Amino acid sequence: MKPARSLVLIEIEEDSLLAGAKAVEQAFSDAIKEQGLDQEVRVAETGNLGIIGRGVVVVIYPEGTTYVGVTEADVPEIVSEHLLKGRPVKRLQVCLGPCMDREKAGIGLVRDQPRIVLKNCGIIDPENLQEAIGVGAYQALERVLTEEISPKSVIDEVINSGLRGRGGAGFPTGKKWSFTAPGDEKYLVCNADEGEPGTCKDRLILEGDPHRLIEGMILAGYAIGAKKGYIYIRGEYSLAIGRMEKAIEQARANDLLGEHILGSDIAFDIEIKKGAGAYVCGEETALIESIEGKRGYPRLKPPYPGQVGLRGKPTVVNNVETLANIAPIILNGAEWFRSFGTETCPGTKVYTILGHAATPGLIEVEMGTPLREIIYKYAGGIRDGKGFKAALIGGAAGAFVDEAGLDVGMDYDSLRDYSAVLGSGAILVLDEDASIVELLRGILNFFAHESCGQCATCRSGTGRLVDILDRFCSDGNEDDLDLLLRVARLMHEASFCPLGQSPVLPIESALRAFKQEFLDYTDVSMPV
Ligand code: SF4
Repeated sequence: MKPARSLVLIEIEEDSLLAGAKAVEQAFSDAIKEQGLDQEVRVAETGNLGIIGRGVVVVIYPEGTTYVGVTEADVPEIVSEHLLKGRPVKRLQVCLGPCMDREKAGIGLVRDQPRIVLKNCGIIDPENLQEAIGVGAYQALERVLTEEISPKSVIDEVINSGLRGRGGAGFPTGKKWSFTAPGDEKYLVCNADEGEPGTCKDRLILEGDPHRLIEGMILAGYAIGAKKGYIYIRGEYSLAIGRMEKAIEQARANDLLGEHILGSDIAFDIEIKKGAGAYVCGEETALIESIEGKRGYPRLKPPYPGQVGLRGKPTVVNNVETLANIAPIILNGAEWFRSFGTETCPGTKVYTILGHAATPGLIEVEMGTPLREIIYKYAGGIRDGKGFKAALIGGAAGAFVDEAGLDVGMDYDSLRDYSAVLGSGAILVLDEDASIVELLRGILNFFAHESCGQCATCRSGTGRLVDILDRFCSDGNEDDLDLLLRVARLMHEASFCPLGQSPVLPIESALRAFKQEFLDYTDVSMPV
């Protein structure tokens, strides 16, 4: 069979499915057949390229022309104009490189991003193992096996790379692995719970390149001596679950998982566990409890999971983005990884940019990239020509950053010095009309709803925070704001896990930068 002259890639992910992506895919197949192009043009599915909230995205290769908001009704025109006559349909086209026209901007200069984790997302068919292998999947594993690289050397390479956990805490990944207690039975757990509001980067990585995660887990399991891995994933992520299940089956069928990986003595297999949607299960010990079939209550630490984890055995819990970095590090080396990012935070970081950004989306940039660059270069600035007011960085458990913080580098250390956190990688951009007061009310209600109730400080404290802010908003005064802060600080000191310790961050940062807005508050609805 002749190679196709054109490839029509339809982005199939949770959001585009709701916008009718499957119907668009079928319409392309039908129209291509009708025009007698089915021997020359191939239609295939892919994951998210980085564009969020613009309906069905279609990319046509070899030109790389990207269309957004495509409906079934647009398909005949794209086929007859673009595929038959070579004339792009300009009204649906966006650019993925530098673009002077805001309306035409895609997301984040996709082609300018230093993509390590997202390299294959939106490029390959995530359900096709051969396509993943064609772009380098399992090469790092092959290198480890053929060069007989020891588990310790794999850990050393990851330590030398300086990779820090991308789940929020930023703890060095290689060190975490090296702290794992000895034992015959150990476990690796991938935390794909992603309960932080406004965050979907892990879902899009899972949906876009599932074999990247599997390879990272095999390498991590080999390094720490675990034969069994679990992916703890949000139950609502049905497409990601389906793709991971399919990829695991493909890997097993091709000796990439199982008793003798690629004919070696290495054994490793992966099981998927679905979470029931509790935010607290993003905390590693609550997650372990949940996998054990218990209620997701966080455990007292120490002992840490590296000593006493799943079923009482040494366990390493790593986040999706962290594990997605492992294969490129092992394949290209620690020095290569260190050529990205900063001295203390090497590599890249994946963000979901939402809210009032002109082009919300999924981007990957070097660690240390200033927030200003992320918003104005990669997310097109503020929509409708409005002014920037603030960004909430790191999700609900994150901090508000105002204009003065736009030039702070986005990495663990620079943000800590600024009393902010990288957190989940969510950036909620807020324009000049947004209400910080209403947004904070929403965040505090979220914490009250998600408190697991195990410790009294958080169980009553989260509810108290809601009551105090509600009272302030209806008939309060400055004393309420002081009390709000005092309660949040007390919770930070006395709560058992990060959920109860977190409300202080959004409260403190909101009052630091926007206290006058609180004092001027009149009941308005937030236009987010
Ligand atoms: Fe549960 Fe909150 Fe205590 Fe964490 S801090 S254990 S979420 S009650």
